[in-house]
Amino acid sequence: MSADLPGEVQEYDLFIDGEFRQSNGDDRIEVDFPYDGSIWASVPNGTATDVDDAVQAARHAFDHDDWRNTQPSGRRTVLNQIADVIDEYSTELAELETLQNGKLLREMEPQMNVMGDWFRYYGRLCEDVGEGRTIPVENKDGQMFNYVRKEPYGVVGAITPWNSPLLLTTWKLAPALAAGNTFVHKPSEETPVSALRFAELVNEHTDLPDGVYNVVPGEGQTGAALAEHDGLDKVAFTGSTAVGREVAKTAGENLTKVSLELGGKSPNVLFEDADLDNAVNGVMKGIFAATGQTCMAGSRVLVHEDIHDEFVDRLTERAGEIKLGDPRDPETEMGPVAFRGQWEKVKEYVDKGLEEGAQLGFGGEMPDSTPGECFIQPTVLVDVDNGMTVAQEEIFGPVASVIPFSTEEEAIELANDVDYGLAAAIWTQNMGRANRFVESVRAGTVWVNEYRVVAPNSPFGGYKDSGLGRECGREGLEEYYQTKSVWYDHAGEVGDPFSLDVE
Ligand code: NAD
Repeated sequence: MSADLPGEVQEYDLFIDGEFRQSNGDDRIEVDFPYDGSIWASVPNGTATDVDDAVQAARHAFDHDDWRNTQPSGRRTVLNQIADVIDEYSTELAELETLQNGKLLREMEPQMNVMGDWFRYYGRLCEDVGEGRTIPVENKDGQMFNYVRKEPYGVVGAITPWNSPLLLTTWKLAPALAAGNTFVHKPSEETPVSALRFAELVNEHTDLPDGVYNVVPGEGQTGAALAEHDGLDKVAFTGSTAVGREVAKTAGENLTKVSLELGGKSPNVLFEDADLDNAVNGVMKGIFAATGQTCMAGSRVLVHEDIHDEFVDRLTERAGEIKLGDPRDPETEMGPVAFRGQWEKVKEYVDKGLEEGAQLGFGGEMPDSTPGECFIQPTVLVDVDNGMTVAQEEIFGPVASVIPFSTEEEAIELANDVDYGLAAAIWTQNMGRANRFVESVRAGTVWVNEYRVVAPNSPFGGYKDSGLGRECGREGLEEYYQTKSVWYDHAGEVGDPFSLDVE
């Protein structure tokens, strides 16, 4: 496969129990290249029966195969094999990602080049976190001992979005496998091909047992069938806050452990002492990279009044210079949004912002020079009030809402005055101020003088409506373990049966 579109439509099936299988239903999903709308692949729209088959395979693999009882060093070996597969096939995987969602190849290639690091990191970490601990309990005058075992949950159902399809799957798959779980993945209907190809590569080139990793593509109803399946022990969801709430409700009814990585409306805050060249670059990185389609987008740009006008001039000038085009071209800086429905959503938000009183600094339109129906100009909205829809709701497109402030207190208040709490950034030379901001802002990730940086060993996740739980880092592995407390008595005698031994 090259970055050229395949000559014929590529047909994929479900991936269950180590093989491709046909769906129980006839409905299929066509996958197109959002740059020009060409259809190049098709996958089954998984049914509830398909989901059940995958969960049964994962359950059987958990209950009867050796994966969960494989020693951590053995799991590490397999995770390292997966990392090696990613390294070997990174070009192909990057191209598949770009053809599905139109993200720049020059972003997807480096993303694939580092993705294996997550598998290597969790392969190492499970040898450490998985070892449990011994507790010096004082019950029965110390004639007991207690230890903590870390055990996998069992079958994990993972549901993922379209914006960084394989990386966001990795944030679940790598720790889930490291802890000894088995896995059923429902990728986004917009980006199912890379998920199926990746599962095929892992199956062909590693010692991961059949049934441990299964993929059922499909639309929302496939995700709902997975989330509500009573054979799951944990649901791991990344997507919008609205769907995350539905998944959490279902998980609540089944009392299934759930983790949620949801939307954001993150403040990128520029003080008057910021290095303005650097800060403008950071704002561009936060909202125009990936065509603004990132959960951590710095979509609310809070700017001190002393530098506001100069900043707006510079940002609008830079926005106007962004080169839109084919996401496979290394010169392109912004590709299309991922599908027409997303384009309409972005456009409606821009129009609503203008109706509510924001001014157009730059953009807001379909550019003349691009093919297809999914391009929108990088857009700068100015004179935005924090109460406006464009300051409160996630747009998930290249739209910066610029909001002025005059004091540090006001900046912190505005930064927190939103339902989301995924990320935030501050641009200042004053480290005392930076630290006050870090301590006050209600967000799961804060950058000081940077934006949009992640790493395998740094936890990521949301406060407030941006999610529950964490991915990446040590915390990301803990999400996939049950904790068992084990008591041994060596006193040789059971005490008074009618009183509780508490010491
Ligand atoms: P989405 O919520 O529409 O869909 C996400 C996934 O859920 C898809 O696979 C979809 O098919 C499935 N789904 C839809 N309805 C469902 C239902 N009723 N039950 C179960 N599954 C269902 O989100 P999207 O448009 O694919 O992705 C964009 C969203 O994802 C944005 O809000 C973005 O902020 C968020 N996101 C969050 C993170 C994070 O780490 N916090 C990362 C990336 C994207």
